[in-house]
Amino acid sequence: MNPAVLIFAHGEEVVPGRETFLNIGNGGIIAFYLLALLATLIFLSGFLFRVRKYSRGRGRPVDWKRFGPALAEISSQRTVAKRDRAVGLAHFFVFWGFMVLTIATAIIAIDEDVLDLLLGRPDLQFWHGAFYQGYSLIVDVFSVGFIGGLVFLGWRRRNPPSKLGYERVDREEGSYDRKGYSIDDRAFLVVLLFIAISGFLLEGFRIAATNFPSFEIWSIAGWTIAQTVSFLGVDGAETARLVFWWAHALSALTFIAFIPYSKAMHMVTDVVDLLVTDQDSARALPDPVGAPSDDLLSLFTWKDLIDHDACTKCGRCHDVCPARATGAPLSPRDLILDLRELADASSGINLWYGPGAEPNTTTGTVAGDYIAAETLWACTTCMACMEVCPVGIEHVPTIVQMRRQLVEVGDVEPGLQTAFQSLTRAGNSFGKSAKQRARWTKGLDQDIKDARSEPVDYLWFVGDHASFDPRAAEVSSSVARLLSHAKVDFGLLYEAERNSGNDVRRAGEEGLFEMLREQNLEALASAQYSQIITTDPHSLNTLRYEYELEGTVIHYTELLDRLVADGSLAVSGLSGIATYHDPCYLGRYQDEYEAPRRLIEATGLGLHEMGRCRENSFCCGAGGGRIWMDDSDLEERPSENRIREAVALGDDVRYFVVACPKDMVMYSDAVKTTGHEDRLQVVDVAQLVEQAMTGVHVG
Ligand code: SF4
Ligand code: SF4
Repeated sequence: MNPAVLIFAHGEEVVPGRETFLNIGNGGIIAFYLLALLATLIFLSGFLFRVRKYSRGRGRPVDWKRFGPALAEISSQRTVAKRDRAVGLAHFFVFWGFMVLTIATAIIAIDEDVLDLLLGRPDLQFWHGAFYQGYSLIVDVFSVGFIGGLVFLGWRRRNPPSKLGYERVDREEGSYDRKGYSIDDRAFLVVLLFIAISGFLLEGFRIAATNFPSFEIWSIAGWTIAQTVSFLGVDGAETARLVFWWAHALSALTFIAFIPYSKAMHMVTDVVDLLVTDQDSARALPDPVGAPSDDLLSLFTWKDLIDHDACTKCGRCHDVCPARATGAPLSPRDLILDLRELADASSGINLWYGPGAEPNTTTGTVAGDYIAAETLWACTTCMACMEVCPVGIEHVPTIVQMRRQLVEVGDVEPGLQTAFQSLTRAGNSFGKSAKQRARWTKGLDQDIKDARSEPVDYLWFVGDHASFDPRAAEVSSSVARLLSHAKVDFGLLYEAERNSGNDVRRAGEEGLFEMLREQNLEALASAQYSQIITTDPHSLNTLRYEYELEGTVIHYTELLDRLVADGSLAVSGLSGIATYHDPCYLGRYQDEYEAPRRLIEATGLGLHEMGRCRENSFCCGAGGGRIWMDDSDLEERPSENRIREAVALGDDVRYFVVACPKDMVMYSDAVKTTGHEDRLQVVDVAQLVEQAMTGVHVG
């Protein structure tokens, strides 16, 4: 065996370089290319299967303007690092290591296969000299990071946090099998690690087999390995090189072949998903699907179908979901994986990693027949899953789309059905007559203008709970007094206001939502105003994004914040410590975190944050129509879970501050049911401001 002159001859000059197929022999080279062809064909057939599946989804527009920010997110791996820096850093090294190795392989393919083999132009080859040395250094450095990242992620899979466990909340233990997923997760890491390590060993044996050419010192890792294995001698190193050449080549070809059939597919789908994701799809829900189709998958858009394949099973959504945390039969991760299995099975393939979709994959409905109605009704639409998902999966619109299917067939939760009836009949979920909507104003010292009959600066869209629930109506009175004190010109729609329809739409009743929107838009058209304020973050969302009044509507905390800042409301003098609960529809949905905090601090209270705050706030359990549904079967209500979190902050935290009428209702109940009524006072930020203004200390 000739251990090889690896110095590349370029004309008369001998320059640094290497021969890829050195000593492989003609038979070996032919075998390699045949295997490469086979791997490519297996890859393409799997890839085409996926593309065919996506093409069964409905159309959906693409926002090309998102591509720039998305590329920045992908290259920085920011979404992966969100709330888990160690994983983000490890994934950053794996991502960039893989990119560099892929580019390095492409360079060799262009240099050898295209320029030399296909075009017959060895004079154009460039993989030698200084370029070769720089290439060697970069590849080695990134490969070390690649291996380090893989080892960390592998270690984490062996010592998994609970979110990486595959226990289901909606099935009995033993009634499902998730071993395939675990094998898929591990096989992906192990194969990548093998490719990287065999590549390094191959390099080290090659350098040792060629007697340590000095230019190879640029291959820093390979050089170090070569020194370690120098005891093998030239012949021993060459034999080992040939063994690892084949091991490296075969593992790389196997990996390529299995990309579309394994977790490795997320390398493709996640990039596509992040490029086209639309987080506003939860704020302004997509229109319902048109006429029913025989194709089960026509319920979904092509983006939804890519979503299902993009899930990396990281468990972050599973971890933050308030429904899952409180014993409801919903895990957003499992929902997405179930939909993946359904889509695969209905496309004729049960992939090895999953147990396969169960009955009715070609007939029946997705919602109800395949995904249980209880699972779909458990969602509070809090958007925590979408916010935390590193790959841009849009769970909320998917769930609502399936809820619409349940509503169509009348499979509706009883409490929700009653609310729908009240809303249809009376325009509010309390079933009260429209004339009673402004009854809460009776106790005020002054009349509030009717914006339909006289112009106002601010039209106050009050919302159902802030109008009809006595606890939330007290907050409305506080807001009214504050606005009057600050000489704000404001008015109401009185009996013309209807429920905004935010929860109705998220509960899947599109027809009723359309009716409410039409009635409200008609009432708004009859009024003269400059801006709309609302006390209800849920209405705020729908008025902004689904009535398309963005730029016109603000939350009352934003207005109070301005009034305090410009001195119209002079506040101070409260003492004690408060904690603040970010309402999902104000925080995650509207990105408003600061105004309520500034108001609390302006009153003089200290602020002690809960661990789950701001983007990571924990839902009270009321959204998406859940406030109308029976929650007595939960192990613990989300609002109770939240109150316990606040209580755990310590005895000095006496005030649980809210900025949403539904929160006032939910948490007033939860402090009682958890036995913390004497320990923690639930108070709205407007009530705090009023008390700080009048000097009446809370508590
Ligand atoms: S929106 Fe909230 S409740 Fe619904 S699945 Fe996502 S995290 Fe769970
Ligand atoms: S849906 Fe997103 S957050 Fe949830 S497990 Fe999959 S990748 Fe992770």
